Amino acid sequence: MIPDKTQVVIIGGGIVGASVAYHLTEIGVTDICLVERHQLTSGTTWHAAGLVAELRASANLTRLARYSGELYETLEASGDHTGYRRVGSLSLALVPDRIRELKRQAAMARQNGVLCNWLEPDAVSERWPHIRINDVLGALYMPRDGQTNPVDTTLTLARLAKQAGAGIVEGVRVLEIRRESGQISGVITDQGTIKTSKVVLCAGLWSRALAAGVDAIVPLYAAEHFYAVTEPVDLPADAPIVRVMDHGIYLKPDAGRLLIGCFEAHAKPLDPESLADGLAFAELPFDLDHFAPYMQAGINRIPVLENIGIRTWFNGPESFTPDGRYILGETPEVKGLFTACGFNSIGIQSAGGVGRVMADWIVAGRPPMDLWEVDVRRFFAFQNEANYLVERTAESLGLLYDMHWPYRQYESARRVRTSPLYEVLKNKGACYGELAGWERANWYAAPGSDPQYAYSYGRQNWFEHSACEHRAVREAVALFDQTSFAKYRVTGPQARTFLDYLCTASLDVPLGKVVYCQWLNERGGIEADVTVTRIADDDYWVISAPASQRRDLAWLAEHASGFDVNVSDITEDYAVLGLMGPEARSTLSRLTDADLSTTGFPFATSQMLVLGRSQGGCELRATRITYVGALGWELYVPRDDALDVYNTLTATPIASAGYHAMDSLRIEKAYRHWGHDITDEDTPLEAGLSFTVDWNKPGGFIGKPALVEQKARGFNKRLALFTLASSEPLLFHDEPIWRNDEPVGYITSGAFGHSLGCALGFGYVTSKVPSRREDVLNARYEIEVEGERIAAQVHLKAPFDPKNLEINR
Ligand SMILES: Cc1cc2nc3c(=O)[nH]c(=O)nc-3n(C[C@H](O)[C@H](O)[C@H](O)COP(=O)(O)OP(=O)(O)OC[C@H]3O[C@@H](n4cnc5c(N)ncnc54)[C@H](O)[C@@H]3O)c2cc1C
Repeated sequence: MIPDKTQVVIIGGGIVGASVAYHLTEIGVTDICLVERHQLTSGTTWHAAGLVAELRASANLTRLARYSGELYETLEASGDHTGYRRVGSLSLALVPDRIRELKRQAAMARQNGVLCNWLEPDAVSERWPHIRINDVLGALYMPRDGQTNPVDTTLTLARLAKQAGAGIVEGVRVLEIRRESGQISGVITDQGTIKTSKVVLCAGLWSRALAAGVDAIVPLYAAEHFYAVTEPVDLPADAPIVRVMDHGIYLKPDAGRLLIGCFEAHAKPLDPESLADGLAFAELPFDLDHFAPYMQAGINRIPVLENIGIRTWFNGPESFTPDGRYILGETPEVKGLFTACGFNSIGIQSAGGVGRVMADWIVAGRPPMDLWEVDVRRFFAFQNEANYLVERTAESLGLLYDMHWPYRQYESARRVRTSPLYEVLKNKGACYGELAGWERANWYAAPGSDPQYAYSYGRQNWFEHSACEHRAVREAVALFDQTSFAKYRVTGPQARTFLDYLCTASLDVPLGKVVYCQWLNERGGIEADVTVTRIADDDYWVISAPASQRRDLAWLAEHASGFDVNVSDITEDYAVLGLMGPEARSTLSRLTDADLSTTGFPFATSQMLVLGRSQGGCELRATRITYVGALGWELYVPRDDALDVYNTLTATPIASAGYHAMDSLRIEKAYRHWGHDITDEDTPLEAGLSFTVDWNKPGGFIGKPALVEQKARGFNKRLALFTLASSEPLLFHDEPIWRNDEPVGYITSGAFGHSLGCALGFGYVTSKVPSRREDVLNARYEIEVEGERIAAQVHLKAPFDPKNLEINR
């Protein structure tokens, strides 16, 4: 029987729904109802291979995966059957770059308590006698990786939730989610209506369609997913799981048999509609031709398989997302609609941790830790289109086992958002990367060379090209296309009061002033890193990162009620050209009559000016600001005029520079990157951004009480910048930071600094007790790169031009 009313409705009784229910009851929320249209586990969960690895691509996701294993293990040990066993796993490296990748991951994993060690090929065959090792270069052994029984684990979680008071109802189909005034009001099922203010969408691959009913964007798409199970094989009882990612396969000992699964480079997307409104325990026709190369790879690796028959050929549907990461959190479109879906074939290993963070998120309304990489707000409407999803899903499935190259770009579903300069920059040799659907010039190939990435864990083929662009900015002038900036306009009689309420800095500033500041949550964590320009008394422009556009707009909408303001998204209305370098003033002054001197146009101000002398020129907004630590102006040009302005600017040739150069330039100036160096779990005090905080402005701002308290109490982590003593190693992200031989954090973002001649990286230095600046500075540091600790120097100020002489030229 379904209730008339409940606090939370969970749609879907797979492992994720059951885990969300279990964890809600664990924190005392028992007025909940999980509805499953067929039987528990009948969606995707029943046929999963059950691998539970501890290692994920980032520290926080690794924590969640580790917790899953611990939960399933603890339940099993206490008599609540899950079938969990720690069998260990071996990830083989067949190519040198895979060794580098695995060693980098191992370093991050150890930092997060994951046990792992590197094995030479002989040690691999000791653990797995049948395995062919003649092409194996080594392997990462993770003894605590495990496997669980997905059905038993789900049923146990659901039973425990039920015992704690949760309603778990099978055979009830949700027909429609209801909302009133942008807020969840209930669900209509085939057995009546349940009133509720919170719905958690754990409906697996059917989640997108359910969300579409209330215009919420949940971009996931089904794909066929294959494995084969052999007849009995003579295997050691303790044989670990084996991953041969370079051949796209995994091998799982399975009750005396061997399960061979694959993550193929070109997957087979499947229209979820074709699953006839959710067949229970669905099985798809097996495509032997598609699977054959992977089966062959399995036989080549374990030659005894040649003579062993196949008991089961299995093909089941699973959901995949455009970036291969799952989808959690409250949708910006509908308050009270939470998502926990899109598991990209790691739903079993993720469910425990996901259930735990979702329970906290549902109760508190905010994620309990930085989960931006899996947050539903990262997606855009275009990613929810079926055509886009079909194209991208064919690529994204294979990415789980593909090389996780630094700077890797998607090959499918590209050219969704382009700057008006796209073609002209392409003709200049731009090599494009993608962010938030935008095509962005990442680097420019010199004449005669190919604007194509050749990926590597070492210096990539664009390294020298980007170095030239970097030098052009430092020594002369270069032009960036920064059109992808997210841009919002806040107008109305209470525009200032509203922005003062959101921003750490005061917006009671003269017209034309540009203010750099953050938006904080109630805990003082950084929700956005923005510049705000006052362009009229009650008219402000907010400029933010491209990736956080939907999140920022949701934040603005959420807080605007009660203020007489209007928020509009002007992102697509303007192109942005960044003219940066010591010669920026002389370049620009040849084209305008405006006074560009420091008195006529001071740093952090913005003015309208006319650029070009022919046909009256073009009126645009010029803002003297920089993200690269140079004298420069960002020119905000109406989209239709962008090409004219570009042609005017480049009538006398100017170097072009891309986003890789920008990254190198910004990190030398210690400019933080939101989403990496500063997130919603870091405060401005911890991030070294307290200079943006106006402690005395009337009315304060969101998060101020938490900051005041933290300031008095002290804090246990501080963001620092590290420069490596050696010029060779590269930093990307997640490399461990060692302080006086103790691991204290990891790199949040890294790049090579061409002016300094070494790699740099940001990272939080954590401590058991509150630390002072001197505590951070007076220590010996090393950064671990591919298993080797490299001496590093710590900085709390920019190592390049700390006095801002370049900017204030
Ligand atoms: C071949 C294969 C092998 C895999 N191997 C692994 C592995 O080794 N390790 C791992 O971690 N993951 C693995 N996975 C992935 C894993 O199975 C999934 O990620 C996981 O099961 C997803 O769980 P879920 O609860 O999100 O979805 P599901 O199990 O699909 O549950 C969703 C539920 O929602 C119900 N539902 C949908 N619509 C409605 C509605 N309108 N009303 C009520 N109920 C509704 C469905 O009936 C379904 O039971 C594998 C997947 C496949 C296909």
